[in-house]
Order: sequence, then C-alpha cells, then structure tokens
Amino acid sequence: MNILVLNSGSSSAKYRFYEMETEKCLCWGLVERIGSRGALMSHNRHDGNNLKKAIEIPDHAGAIESIIEVLLSPEHGVIEDKNNIDAIGHRVVHGGEKFSGSVLIDDEVMKQLYECIELAPLHNPHNIKGIMACREMLNDKPQVAVFDTAFHQGIPDYAYLYALPYSLYKKYGLRRYGFHGTSHRYVADRAAAMMDNPVENLKLITCHLGNGCSIAAVKNGVSIDTSMGFTPVEGLIMGTRCGDIDPAALLYIMSREDLGNSEANSLINKHSGLYGISGLSNDMREIESEALAGNSRAEVALDMFCYRIRKYIGAYAFAMGGVDGIVFTGGIGENSYEVRTRTLNELKLLNIELDPEKNKNRDTSERFIDFGRGVRTMVIPTNEELVIARDSIELIQG
Ligand code: ADP
Repeated sequence: MNILVLNSGSSSAKYRFYEMETEKCLCWGLVERIGSRGALMSHNRHDGNNLKKAIEIPDHAGAIESIIEVLLSPEHGVIEDKNNIDAIGHRVVHGGEKFSGSVLIDDEVMKQLYECIELAPLHNPHNIKGIMACREMLNDKPQVAVFDTAFHQGIPDYAYLYALPYSLYKKYGLRRYGFHGTSHRYVADRAAAMMDNPVENLKLITCHLGNGCSIAAVKNGVSIDTSMGFTPVEGLIMGTRCGDIDPAALLYIMSREDLGNSEANSLINKHSGLYGISGLSNDMREIESEALAGNSRAEVALDMFCYRIRKYIGAYAFAMGGVDGIVFTGGIGENSYEVRTRTLNELKLLNIELDPEKNKNRDTSERFIDFGRGVRTMVIPTNEELVIARDSIELIQG
C-alpha cells in the first residue's frame, strides 16, 4: 500500500510518498510560489536522485498535477501508474469541534470542512483546495483528513473555555482549540515506547518548538491542556508571534498607535516574539549565537523564551497531578542544547538531572538526555507526515 501525504498551504504544497509495508518514505518534496512567476519544484527520491526545476504552476490543481507527474516520471519517480497511489492523506489545520480524530473524506465531511473555514480562514481554504484537486485528478482514490486540532479535543471545558461571556463561545465557537496536535500525539506515543510503559499510564509534557511553538499536557494518552488557543498566537514565545500577553495591552497599543485590525494582527503575528524582542531575527540559531556573543537583547529574548516554557511545564505538571516525562521536538526542541538546558536546569523540583553529554550530542535520533533518576527528559524528532500516512491506512482498511 502506498500513501501520498499532502500539506497544502497558501502558496506551497509539500508532499511525502510512503510505502506502508515498511513505512519507508520513497520520495518527498515541495512546490512553492504557486500562482506567482518563478514557481519551483524540489523533489527528492530516497536514493538521492533529486530534482529542482522552475515550472508554471497557476493554482493548487496545477501543483497536484505536477506532483503526480513527478511520482510517475521514469527518471525521478517511484511508481509506474496512478493506481499505485492507494490513498491520499491531507493535513488540515482546523477541525473545530466537529473532528476529534482523522476521517475519510466524503461529501458530508467536505461540507463540514467548509464550515470550519471561518475558524482558520488563512489555512483551511488552501487545505481544501488540495483535497479538491486530488478529487479531480485521483477521483476514485480514498482521501483522509488529519487535523492539527483533533488531538486536543480531549481538553475538558474548564481548560478550553475563556472567561469571556459564555454566549460568545456558543455563538462563535470562541475557545481554546490548540494546534500541532499530530506532532504532540506522535511524540507522546514515541516517549511511551522509549519509557517502555503504555501511554495510558503516563503523564507527559510535550514541547513542540519550531517557528511556531506549543506545549501540551498529555495525561494517559489524552491531551488535557495546550498552550495555543483559539488561534496559534497564544502561549509560548515564537519566532515572530508574541504568545501570552495582556489582551488589554493590545487595545492600548491600537489606540496609542492608531492601528487597525490588520495592523494589530500583523504586530502580534509577524513583528513580535524572538524577532520583536531581539530586533535581530526570528531564527533561534541567530538568537543563540548573538546571545552567546554578548548581545543583551538576544540574551533577554532567549531567556524569555525558555522561562515561558519552564512556567508552562510547572503549570502542566500540577494540572496533571504529576509528570513522568518531558519531550522536546521541532527544529528548536530537537537541535538546541542551549534552549533545553536553560529550560530544564532549574527544574530541581522535578528531580530532573540533565546529562550534559547526551544533551549536547548532535545525534538526530530520539534519545534520553538525562541520567535517568527523576522525571525522564527526551529529544524526539517529530514525524507528522508518518502519522498522517498511518491514519490514512487505518481508515481505508476500516
Ligand atoms: P517549522 O515550525 O516551520 O516547521 P522548524 O520545526 O523547522 O520550523 O523549526 C525552525 C526553528 O528551528 C528555527 O527557529 C531554527 O532556528 C531552529 N533551529 C534549527 N536548527 C537549529 C539549531 N541547530 N540550533 C538552534 N535552533 C535551530
């Protein structure tokens, strides 16, 4: 069985193609700048046969067409016939309260996906375009939607509601949804395997630290709280997003600086976070090297970033009534010794004792980074695409 995994964004489509008997990724790639001049396709085959070319891609249908074309290409491809694609798994950002798990897409699901657009107007329409294009080009093939929000649907009402008038929750669905759910689910399962204990027995805190950052409390395999909220702006400090702030501070800035909605939106999404504090960059590598070279704004940005994670770890340990393991994943979580050290070093309360060697090790595979005496701490590279492929197989096999 072969599964094509698609992640359709506003101007790009990422893909991975899996052979599921071995779970091997046969090829992967990216079509970028869809709809503008200079669209580009990068394709990588598992044996190192790679391709990068400029192509005309007017829309998402064109992107899917070129992906199918390259999968079939005698020179760079991995299959001989369209029929070798058994199903397509799509990453869908927002499933609202309608979806608490992955689903096979049919007309009723399509209708509900359209209804979720108002919750994620910048993301869901593009995910839907990818699905529609596949329906057109691979119309007899089953398609599966895997939602970023689904894993967090286990969060209880006292944790997902905001203390705003309840009527706004009823009217607009205004509540915490959380994101990165596929990643939190994957690393929680892997952590349980590493700890040789079923996930149903464990209290885990999973830190997904990439350009977007979120943290989740996973109790007995269920997400019971997470830091991103109604939108992915809430919670941790991120590359360019502010995370938690006093909502009245935003109203104050809007009034003092005479900002409209879209400018305010851009302020908290694109000009804040590591970039806003440091004035340098949204890239953790640059923040770290500047901080270590003595730049005080980079230093405070790094400290704020780690302090915010530490506060959440403390909160979630108490929310779950304990914690057995803490996982770091995402580009920063997997690679940054500095962030893991600054975040965990002061967590003596949890008996965490990092092993500097294991922590510093540049190994990219999953590993423990402690001496194994207290709460276990781990680095686990995330693999959202594999989860999408696995869910797709599970659903099409009934
Ligand atoms: P996305 O959320 O877009 O998938 P990633 O998970 O790839 O992003 O994470 C990107 C972040 O990871 C960037 O801030 C980048 O600086 C950081 N990062 C990547 N490699 C390292 C490294 N060696 N040390 C510190 N940070 C790193």
